[in-house]
Amino acid sequence: MAISASHTISTGNSKNGQPSGSTLLATTRQQFSRAAANLNTDPAVVEALQSFDREIVVMIPVRMDSGEWRHFWGYRVQHNNARGPYKGGLRFSPHVDSAEVSALAALMTYKCAVLDIPFGGGKGGVNVDPRQLSEGELCRLVKEFTRRLLPNIGEHFDIPAPDMNTGEREMAWIVEEASKQLNRPVPGIVTGKPLMHGGNPARKEATGRGVGVLTIELLKRMGIDPADATIAIQGFGNAGVYSALYLAEQGCSIVGITNSTCGLFKADGLDITSIDAHVQSGQRIDTYDAPGVTRINNDQLLRLDVDVLIPAALENQITTKVVADLKAKAIVEAANGPTTLEAQDELARLGIPVVPDILANAGGVCGSYFEWLANTSDVTWTLETTRAELDKVIYNAFQCVWERSQETGRDLRAAAYEIALQRVAKAMEEKWHAAD
Ligand code: NAD
Repeated sequence: MAISASHTISTGNSKNGQPSGSTLLATTRQQFSRAAANLNTDPAVVEALQSFDREIVVMIPVRMDSGEWRHFWGYRVQHNNARGPYKGGLRFSPHVDSAEVSALAALMTYKCAVLDIPFGGGKGGVNVDPRQLSEGELCRLVKEFTRRLLPNIGEHFDIPAPDMNTGEREMAWIVEEASKQLNRPVPGIVTGKPLMHGGNPARKEATGRGVGVLTIELLKRMGIDPADATIAIQGFGNAGVYSALYLAEQGCSIVGITNSTCGLFKADGLDITSIDAHVQSGQRIDTYDAPGVTRINNDQLLRLDVDVLIPAALENQITTKVVADLKAKAIVEAANGPTTLEAQDELARLGIPVVPDILANAGGVCGSYFEWLANTSDVTWTLETTRAELDKVIYNAFQCVWERSQETGRDLRAAAYEIALQRVAKAMEEKWHAAD
């Protein structure tokens, strides 16, 4: 069978008109609209940011181990690059579509802007269930996707990264294929690579560390000594584990954790290092046992009487029903979109501080930025340097958002979106004027 590499670019909106159908997309747009109204933003800027710069949709033919050919759809949405190259992950899931990646691409633009790192926003993925493919099939899929994306990605133009169901292995395949096609090594074309291929030693922990750093700052501003603080964390994956490890190291008591199957509770604090070691050894959380540890479910975890609740699993977990029973004094959104719009409004009305996702989980993209900086300047960053720089960037971003919230009387989410929008709009207007 002859295969010709081709790609379709449609600018503006998705194949089916306006991207729609995703709660995350609707929520992101709503937050953005509120910030734009508060700032009286130029309508031309608003219009551009409510859409995206470019959407690339590619058909990816893959030869399966059986010898048959199958086709998959791949997406890359480049939302905005006024502040720097498009940046954002590639996810592999049967749910991937234009609306989902559009929403996530916009979130990346605002996340990078609120951190004040010189990246724009992008996101992509393939509509595939990777568990149904062999390693060889997956590798051929990733390499064909890379070839078809290649005219539109690059170290200084659009830099993908891992996301749901993709990781170091897939990033290494992309670098290998891109370097082959371009006839030169291009480690900076993606971030989230294995260490030996130019990865960063702190990339894995970066999101959780960022969550931890700003949770400590939030506690201090709430007048709570971190050594006396109690924390509950929903989700014991990458974001949840590293948040828990960092906060436990700072003296906080992590009293509850859950994953998709079960949860653990201990009133005077769980031993997170020992639970992590249990999971790392291939065992499930529900087989973990220690004196004083009891089982809880997800509903109970969300309603624990703690200082800070950290949702680090899925979207739409904190609903108005949860808020009605909420005992936590504050929320730090490690997950993307864990709070419904209605619940956000209710939390704001009750004056419960919520550190929004675009700030709370931005440690990951910050770690990616350091990896890319090292790759493109041909230097190596140590774990210690990366941690110290990450802590500074996260602290400064939190401080800026906190001050704006204090000045305006609006919640932390509104403050974060306003800061992000102001920075992106300024960069866009400067570029437009320069092009006159
Ligand atoms: P992950 O797959 O490593 O972990 C997800 C965890 O959530 C798992 O422990 C899973 O068992 C748990 N979970 C799933 N359903 C659950 C449920 N109903 N109740 C309780 N727990 C449940 O994923 P991750 O990388 O940690 O990402 C988690 C969230 O953080 C996502 O929203 C993701 O978009 C966001 N995020 C992650 C990063 C990162 O660098 N990992 C960066 C930015 C944002």
